[in-house]
Amino acid sequence: MMKVAVIGAGVNGVASALKILEHYQAEKRLNVQVSIISEEFTPNTTGDGSAGLWGPFLLSGTEKSKIYQWSKSMHNFLEKIWLSEDAGEAGVCLLPCVRLSTDPNVSVEDFWRDIVYGAVDLTPEQLAVYNKNRDVKFTSGLSFVTYTSEPLKLLPYLTKRFVRKGGRVEQQKVTDLESFVRDSPYDVIVNCTGLGSRQLLNDDNMYAVRGQVSRIKANWVFAAILDESDDGNYIIPNTESVVLGGTHQEKDYNTKVSDVDKRFIIDGCRRLMPGLVHTQHLFDWVGLRPGRVQVRLESERRGRKLLIHNYGHGGSGVTLCEGCADDVLSLLLAAKLNSKL
Ligand SMILES: Cc1cc2nc3c(=O)[nH]c(=O)nc-3n(C[C@H](O)[C@H](O)[C@H](O)COP(=O)(O)OP(=O)(O)OC[C@H]3O[C@@H](n4cnc5c(N)ncnc54)[C@H](O)[C@@H]3O)c2cc1C
Repeated sequence: MMKVAVIGAGVNGVASALKILEHYQAEKRLNVQVSIISEEFTPNTTGDGSAGLWGPFLLSGTEKSKIYQWSKSMHNFLEKIWLSEDAGEAGVCLLPCVRLSTDPNVSVEDFWRDIVYGAVDLTPEQLAVYNKNRDVKFTSGLSFVTYTSEPLKLLPYLTKRFVRKGGRVEQQKVTDLESFVRDSPYDVIVNCTGLGSRQLLNDDNMYAVRGQVSRIKANWVFAAILDESDDGNYIIPNTESVVLGGTHQEKDYNTKVSDVDKRFIIDGCRRLMPGLVHTQHLFDWVGLRPGRVQVRLESERRGRKLLIHNYGHGGSGVTLCEGCADDVLSLLLAAKLNSKL
């Protein structure tokens, strides 16, 4: 029996665990046991407060070719769910999205434009609509259709799929990764601890990118609008509420709601969409994105054991989780651990 432990129950941990389990089940190799071991589970992981909009964001020095490959895999995965009877349960929505830039020298980043559906640049006439009532004008924009997969629904859905197929789930904080790898019964350990890796591995390349959002009730908002400027706001509908954002404050570890940020979010989003004035405010939320100089996705041998790292997904953990899980599985298969496999 090969035993695999995935540490972390955020989007990356659950996607990786499910990927490994479903691979071996499809191969009819039933001598593989996969467990998720984590301190926190949904609804208390970083993704749970996010809108889960597909789109690469805040990924620092991660190679564009990798981001492209990983995010494309997630788009395909979401398309499959969207076309299945699971879409509602998994919280997967197909929606129009507009990204806007105020920088006359840099248009909206779009190296991924062939992944989404129907991407077109906004015409000057279309931009003029968004520029009404604004001092700082938008100079370019991209309109397309993509998915949201809000982790508050996606995570329970993926976890249920994992458990139904025999995956195990255990609540435990790992305080010493070295001794966990050495002394635990697991042959393969996949580290998906997000910002937890900063402490667990003394990884100085990791830092929090604080994000605050507000959730409101506004059933009439059907499209996502994002201002790409450094201090830009965004509006992203989910199935039952709308997320207004947002902040990205590097190396800020404060998890308390800030009134100043709340004002910035509400006022900025109302400038983008004045109708938001008459909406019900539900709650505010703060999360710490697992920022890193680049995503760490690699494996190392520890004696007869294999340790795979998959963390540091910044502002795109939801967008990248399926593609990164593909690579976790590839690293595991490439290791050809021993005759048990
Ligand atoms: C405001 C905000 C909005 C966002 N919006 C989007 C978006 O629209 N689209 C998008 O793609 N991304 C978005 N993100 C980013 C995304 O939420 C993160 O990149 C993603 O959630 C990271 O997932 P993860 O699984 O790597 O880490 P996490 O979700 O942080 O999970 C880490 C897991 O590891 C566990 N853990 C940590 N340390 C230990 C330990 N020592 N022992 C045991 N368990 C441990 C934790 O309990 C947790 O279960 C947003 C983030 C924020 C804050």
